[in-house]
Amino acid sequence: MYILGTMAKTLRSAAAIILYRNTPDLEVFWVRRSPKMMFMGGFHAFPGGQLDPDEDARVCAARELEEEVGLRVDPGALIDVGRWVTPVFAPRRFDTCFFLAPSPEGQEARIMTGEHDAAEWVRPNDALERWIEGEILMAPPITHALRALADGLDNIVERMKSVPWAHGNPTPDIEMRPGVVMVPVRTPTLPPATHTNCYIIGGDEVIVIDPASPYDEERELLDEVLERRNCRIREIWLTHLHRDHVSGANHLRERWGVKIAAHPITANDLAGSVAVDRTFADDERLELPGRPGWSLRVFHTPGHARGHVCIFEEKNGSLITGDLMAGVGTIVIDPPEGHMATYFNSLQRMQALHLKALFPAHGPVMANAKEKIQEYLDHRVLRETNILKAWQGGARSPASIVKAVYTDVPPAMHGLAGRSVSAHLDKLREEGRI
Ligand SMILES: [Zn+2]
Ligand SMILES: [Zn+2]
Repeated sequence: MYILGTMAKTLRSAAAIILYRNTPDLEVFWVRRSPKMMFMGGFHAFPGGQLDPDEDARVCAARELEEEVGLRVDPGALIDVGRWVTPVFAPRRFDTCFFLAPSPEGQEARIMTGEHDAAEWVRPNDALERWIEGEILMAPPITHALRALADGLDNIVERMKSVPWAHGNPTPDIEMRPGVVMVPVRTPTLPPATHTNCYIIGGDEVIVIDPASPYDEERELLDEVLERRNCRIREIWLTHLHRDHVSGANHLRERWGVKIAAHPITANDLAGSVAVDRTFADDERLELPGRPGWSLRVFHTPGHARGHVCIFEEKNGSLITGDLMAGVGTIVIDPPEGHMATYFNSLQRMQALHLKALFPAHGPVMANAKEKIQEYLDHRVLRETNILKAWQGGARSPASIVKAVYTDVPPAMHGLAGRSVSAHLDKLREEGRI
């Protein structure tokens, strides 16, 4: 459960260029998007951007290439290699045409805008190695293109278009890091949010985190992904008690004959509804074999819920945040289940880990993990300062404080904001500040 900011409901059209050259090995030109970028900040990608009104995709791709890296190509000569749509988890969704083009003779690519903080020519296999080693993050169309190009240019169009996701169907499983697979499923979460991200972690043997959906078609989607990936489920893990996280757990347990594990508090809260078989030990660790290998640690992170846990993959610095952090909006702290001071403490403990990326239950993956947590902490401190000011100005009820402080939040969300105000007031009282 969380408060959302505005969520774009329409797809925006975009175009990207995969530039290649032979030196004599085949190389492609890629960029790292600045971590400050709203969409896929910190991710490696190909140059590209949004179409202007009435602009043709090829013209857009050529224009973006010139604006971003200073290279001029003939739009008419670009080769169409597929169309990818951002999955449903994202607050911004794009429908992107990908084009392939040889690098123009005699021109040198360079970074031209603040949108990128790195750019280079790379052999597709080297790029994939760096991804497997956990050095970089990239989205499915980029990984797919590099895999196809690693086998050369023969039949490249056919090979790049060989999957349904290259024809405008959003991919159901999203692997931004090897073996950290996100599957967004529709859940009865707070509107306008509609989805929860389940995670499948590992290689041949996996842990499934938060099988969330109560809806048959969404459960089938997760089952299909698990079947297609042909992996053995070792266990199902739950981050916390909320129904938009646990509603597919019993189904998965029976369908695959596997056990469910959760924090003892969560197991107790879910007694009678979800069949939790086992509770997490203190500082539970699990090694999963394969390449690059996964080393999981379970951290108790109360604040949003008393039995909340985050799962940390140590090798790559990936944190499965549950509802500690969200890719969009802010987390609701709703007393007595929620507790603000404990929530601050959990955020600070997770920030102190060797973190590289956050994998939330709602919204997209965040590459700039530590900065993002700091933003959350700063945002809460600012809210708290303003709540304290409103209190000192004579406001007493959460509703009147919300009116004064949450001027950036739509009125429909004021009820939930009032719960967060209560949580902040509890913290201020505990600290003897009011
Ligand atoms: Zn949630
Ligand atoms: Zn929750």
